[in-house]
Amino acid sequence: MSESSGTSVSKKGAPRWDLESVFPGGSRSDEYKQYRENLKKDLDALESRMKSIKDKADQLNRSEIIGLIEELQKLYQKVELVYSFAGCLSAADVKDDHAYHVYSEAQGYQSQWENLKTTLESFILELSDSAWENLLKDDRVKRIRFYLDEIRKIAEIKMPPDKEALVLDLAVNGYHAWNNIYTKMAGGSTVEFTEDDKTEVISLGQLALKMGSPDRAIRKKAFDKLTEAWQKNADLASIMLNSQAGFRLSLYKHRGWKSPIFEPLLIGRLQEKTLDAMWESVQNAAPRYQQYIDAKKKLMGADTFCWYDQIAPVGKSSKEFNFNEASKFIIEQIQDFSNDMAEFIKHALGNNWVEAENRPGKAAGGFCTGLGEVKESRIFMTFESNYDSLLTLAHELGHAYHHHVLKDDPAFAQFYPMGLAETASTFNELLVTDAALSQVSDPQEKIMLLDQKIGNGFVMFCNIHARYIFDRSFYKERAKGTVSKDRLNELMLDSQKIAFCNMLDENGYHPEFWASKLHFFETYVPFYNFPYTFGYLFSNAVYHRAKDEGKSFAETYRELLSDTGVMTSEDVAKKYLDADLTDPAFWKWVTDKATDDIPEFVQLAEKV
Ligand SMILES: [Zn+2]
Repeated sequence: MSESSGTSVSKKGAPRWDLESVFPGGSRSDEYKQYRENLKKDLDALESRMKSIKDKADQLNRSEIIGLIEELQKLYQKVELVYSFAGCLSAADVKDDHAYHVYSEAQGYQSQWENLKTTLESFILELSDSAWENLLKDDRVKRIRFYLDEIRKIAEIKMPPDKEALVLDLAVNGYHAWNNIYTKMAGGSTVEFTEDDKTEVISLGQLALKMGSPDRAIRKKAFDKLTEAWQKNADLASIMLNSQAGFRLSLYKHRGWKSPIFEPLLIGRLQEKTLDAMWESVQNAAPRYQQYIDAKKKLMGADTFCWYDQIAPVGKSSKEFNFNEASKFIIEQIQDFSNDMAEFIKHALGNNWVEAENRPGKAAGGFCTGLGEVKESRIFMTFESNYDSLLTLAHELGHAYHHHVLKDDPAFAQFYPMGLAETASTFNELLVTDAALSQVSDPQEKIMLLDQKIGNGFVMFCNIHARYIFDRSFYKERAKGTVSKDRLNELMLDSQKIAFCNMLDENGYHPEFWASKLHFFETYVPFYNFPYTFGYLFSNAVYHRAKDEGKSFAETYRELLSDTGVMTSEDVAKKYLDADLTDPAFWKWVTDKATDDIPEFVQLAEKV
């Protein structure tokens, strides 16, 4: 039996999750194995069925197509369960090799399912416009009309299906391999680091964590080491970045897609006008952080503010919560806003959906995962009795509520874009943080809470914006030819100066950031940056609307979440917030709201 099974509660009170009710027996579970075998049979059966009708796809009648769509969605729920369950097992016990084995098996099912979906897309393309219109009117696809329409529209502007299939196939060992090499290079690089007269060999990931140290000398040393390490890797990193961007640009050329931002916007279900309006307001509001930076400098006793000070902690809290106290606090705050969400959270906690025990052998970090056709979620985290853990719990419970609201929808109605994925989680964080702030009287504790909240916004307004500006300018130059590593440094420095409005010290920027940040090398989601800021601000908008309207907004909130997978981001905002995302006035309002804590922080910093 694996470590993670069982429903016992540890002495400290942080619970383990219940996986036994899903499949008993951990990674070696017979029931789990049987389930995977059945899934494999079902996937193979659908594959041969699709193969056998491939040549007469244009003759398929409406019910036959809908039958395939329904079958594919059902299989998705099963693939998700197999996948998530393996993920849960290996996170709860990193030494569970069999769980890793099952996880890679699940990746195989996932890609088999993706291939079936691609085949379905090719069938859909074969239908005449009138047959397609008729199909969309069918009640059986009512809830997934948006998704179906979207895949046909996207397929229409791509190359013919056989060419796209070839691209997908070649990309596995070509395009995506650049990301694999980068990940390997970053993961395999180590440095010697001396702290308290002790020298250790640590990874670059561990080094990056040191930039959150309260000791400025440690932060600076970590940053210098990081820069040095990436200067050594910069030649290779620049080849990787140029190659994957070059691949993308070639593909776009063959598809006739003019702009490198076209695909990221398609994936994000966003209009360019929305994105431009958002960044314009962000750029206008960013200089407000100057006051925050000055206050932080005072608190840190520093006369400059550099890249490595971005996540420097200030203030402190000696308050400790056990898991039950944290849960109770969260439920109380949620209760004031939504009974439905509060009841859900009680249900999730009462049924041991959360793995929170602090013990060795667990993976780092936190996540919330849906369990497909089981229609439940599981939350993974390590509860450390501090405010951060409370916030993580609130965040992940937000994701779980989002899954809960969508659980009875067909799979194709559940695929929300990255920019809307953090709506419920950020909402909970804001709710809980503001509640904690209103109850705290100790100035140091208040400074800590406010700093975390404002610091998060600072990252969204400046750091993420710099990444976006860099990507835009890099792609522009890459279209003309390879961009050298020195030029990449220049582009990055310029991007940071614009996005940070020169608020960092003249020598305090990070030109090698394009190399040190994994996100630039992400191949599945190009421009892996703007959805963060969009999601953060969108969630702020929802939160402030909820604050204004109180409990009467709870039902609207639930409906908003349930529609995140069936319309564009603009339409979600229009329908539930009565807001026009392409209108700069909306973004002005929300950037004002998101920065309105800064004066309080400044005042507190002056007093202590
Ligand atoms: Zn999240």
